Amino acid sequence: MKEESNNLEAYRRRANCLECGCKIYGREDKKFCSATCKNMHNNRLRSAMREQRNAAQMALQRNHDILSALANSGQNGGKLDTLCSLGFDPDVVSGIRHAGVRVWEYSCYNITYRLNGRRLYKIEIHSGT
Ligand SMILES: [Zn+2]
Repeated sequence: MKEESNNLEAYRRRANCLECGCKIYGREDKKFCSATCKNMHNNRLRSAMREQRNAAQMALQRNHDILSALANSGQNGGKLDTLCSLGFDPDVVSGIRHAGVRVWEYSCYNITYRLNGRRLYKIEIHSGT
């Protein structure tokens, strides 16, 4: 009887469902009270990750459009403040590499540029292949 009581206690969990917060019964490592809660939780996480990824891609695309327009107008540099006023976000890059002593080259897909204080310079479009 005592062993049965211990088994019953082990079956009862003190944890709560990560989705709805209700008490969970069953396996020790269960995180959800039902498949519905598990699916809702995972769908929400995936949706949040998708939104973050889309926001980053949109910011990269906006940066690319701005840099591309600048380079195609014959300019290979510009004031960071001016570019930021157009929507350029210097915190969003697709790559960064060390290009010399205290010089970093940033990439936005196929466009590279360097920063000197508040000024972008050496904006270059690299053709594919
Ligand atoms: Zn639940």
